[in-house]
Amino acid sequence: MNNSHLNTHPLTSRILPTREGWLAGVAVFLISGVGLSLMILGSYRSQVDAVRDEMDQLTRLAASRLDADLHHGLRSPGQMGSPEHLRALQPLVDFHKTTKDLFYVYTAILDEDEIRVILDTSYLYRAKGDDLPPDQIGDIYENEDPDFELALRQQIQISNSKPTAEGNIWLISGYAPFYDSSGRFEGIVGIDMNLKQFVARMMGVLSFALVSLTVVLVLSIVAGRRVFLMRRQAAEALKRDEQVGAELLAAKERAEEAAQAKSTFLAMMSHEIRTPMNGVIGMASLLRETNLNANQLDYLHTIENCGETLLTIINDILDYSKIETGRVDLELAPVDVRACIEDSLDLLSVNAAAQNVELVYHMDPGMVGWVRTDATRLRQILVNLVSNAVKFTHDGEVVVSAEPYVENGMRFMKFSVSDNGIGIPEERMDRLFQVFSQVDPSTTRYYGGTGLGLAICKLLAELMGGRIWVESTLGKGSVFHFTIRAEAVTARQPVLPQTAEPGMEGKQVLILDDNATNREILTGLTRMWGMEPTAAANVDAALTLARSQKFDVALVDWNMPGKHGGDFAREIRASSGLEELPMILLSSGVPFGESSMDLFDSSLGKPVRAMALFQTMACLFGETLPDANATASTPKTNISLDHPLKILLVDDNNVNQRVAALSLQRLGYRADLAANGLEAIAAVTRTSYDVILMDVQMPEMDGLEATRIIRSKKELQQPWVIALTAGVMSDERKRAREAGMDDFMAKPFKADALAECLKRGHLAIQAMRNRD
Ligand code: ADP
Repeated sequence: MNNSHLNTHPLTSRILPTREGWLAGVAVFLISGVGLSLMILGSYRSQVDAVRDEMDQLTRLAASRLDADLHHGLRSPGQMGSPEHLRALQPLVDFHKTTKDLFYVYTAILDEDEIRVILDTSYLYRAKGDDLPPDQIGDIYENEDPDFELALRQQIQISNSKPTAEGNIWLISGYAPFYDSSGRFEGIVGIDMNLKQFVARMMGVLSFALVSLTVVLVLSIVAGRRVFLMRRQAAEALKRDEQVGAELLAAKERAEEAAQAKSTFLAMMSHEIRTPMNGVIGMASLLRETNLNANQLDYLHTIENCGETLLTIINDILDYSKIETGRVDLELAPVDVRACIEDSLDLLSVNAAAQNVELVYHMDPGMVGWVRTDATRLRQILVNLVSNAVKFTHDGEVVVSAEPYVENGMRFMKFSVSDNGIGIPEERMDRLFQVFSQVDPSTTRYYGGTGLGLAICKLLAELMGGRIWVESTLGKGSVFHFTIRAEAVTARQPVLPQTAEPGMEGKQVLILDDNATNREILTGLTRMWGMEPTAAANVDAALTLARSQKFDVALVDWNMPGKHGGDFAREIRASSGLEELPMILLSSGVPFGESSMDLFDSSLGKPVRAMALFQTMACLFGETLPDANATASTPKTNISLDHPLKILLVDDNNVNQRVAALSLQRLGYRADLAANGLEAIAAVTRTSYDVILMDVQMPEMDGLEATRIIRSKKELQQPWVIALTAGVMSDERKRAREAGMDDFMAKPFKADALAECLKRGHLAIQAMRNRD
């Protein structure tokens, strides 16, 4: 298996545990670090703000203690130590002493644009750590603090917004103006404060920050490692998933290969079994036409039965495996639902009659007439269900009904096949739709069957968008329902009239049938066409009615307990005034005497086709309608007079060649023979043929190759090529068509099918040659 596409861009390569671990660690560290820094900055700012507030208060207090008038008299250094100087200085010294951490307290004035110091408390009181000589009165101030100058020039109160460093001492200064007794500005008082406590507090904050940073670092490492471990785990899990995915893919591909191998095997097997079966069945049917004694006929019957059964099994197995492996494409085309049901019932009418089972169908008036669906598959389900119903019912009735159906808001067509046969035990119902499941192993012995029919029906119903289910009561009967999705289309042929018909309106119809469902259906149909039906369940009741009331027509069932339809007809024809009553016989083809048959004006097969009944009535009452459903049955005998054809038969297998040649003989044809593709080409070059029956698989040159070569020879009059093959896979048909073959016959074939195929060929050749 090739899973290189998985390895080129595996999802695992998108997970990088180491890198993602580092990134997570660094991210945690950065985020926490930024948070911590903002916190420290905030704390510093609020500390400074607190100190400034304190400075504002202190400078205001110091300014209020000053005697500005006295201060005004101090201007020269000579006044240092004078009583005025000491008196003026004393309040500031007291203030300095009582206030912790003050470094300098001093005053300054602006004199001819020079800043001059006047008082300095260090003259009387030295702050700790101060070893500078005190300023003299009138010294020019050399501090470069711009706030100081601003406060003095603008006569305002200011405190430094940032601490400044002097040596290793951190200071903050504040300034406030003071005024003499007449309110005139004298100068400013300045205070320098040692920020020892502030620094101590900030150191506390810093050490807290340091500790926090260490914690953050540890947390970052832990987080990084955690992320690393988690991602490594995820990468490992993903790798495991990818491995499992790759294994699943490999398993899926192996399963697909196996399914393919199974189909090929089945096709091969089918081919291998069909080829000899063709000989067995074909020869058996030819043998039947020879003179045989009773014993031999009996043996022959067994051979034919076994052959047919074997073919059915092979077909069922193949069909099931084809549908199951999705090798069946629905062939959607407009389908007449009523005709589809009638065709299905037609196929089983003989079986039903033999079992004494009444076969009836009922189509809901709300049901659309024409839909787009696969008629073959729909018929296949119906035939399967109806044949089961007939098989498991004796002396009863099987009713097929069709109606519109809505499930989960979706619109479906629902078909139901109900019988009053043996029924199915509750505990067996769930297994019913599985392959090879028969309710009772003895079923095969009594009834035959492969146990594949319902499994195929289930697959088909699902393929057609619906489902299948069953309701049953043991001993009472079963109802199989299935739904399909089908889109309504406009009718292609005259559909059954659903309303009163002018010619039939008001006509009195006598319906004689012992089966209640049938009476109901016939009553419904005739009433729909505007007639007035009256039903009777037995001959005596019908005769009483006919004698007491005027009828325009009678619909008469043949098979009834006690007196049958013929007895009724005889009595009617013998009764005065009733001799002319038109009578239509409804029968399931059970043998009956010619004489009674002549008493009827018309006869229809059962189950009655609604359209046929309508047309018969319409004819009776003067209406003419296009004969939409007329299908002339073909005699199996000589068709070569109407369809003259020159035929070449190409087959490598002796038995098959004989079977086909004899079948052709029975239809009135004499065919030339060829044993492989090369011989066929040689024959075609010598003589021109209308039709070639060409086997597909042959040694030396197969039928496909031979057809291709014949088609390439433009100078030849091109024959109609019919592929003969034992393979039934749809791709085989496709290949045959691609090789230039025109038609297709699966072996073993029946004489009817061969006749139809040749007729088709004849018509096509005529059309082709007329065109040329
Ligand atoms: P088979 O080829 O055996 O008929 P199916 O799959 O069609 O296979 O049916 C499987 C089994 O279901 C039958 O053998 C029978 O036991 C049961 N069955 C099917 N249809 C009916 C029915 N209408 N009445 C009673 N039993 C039925």
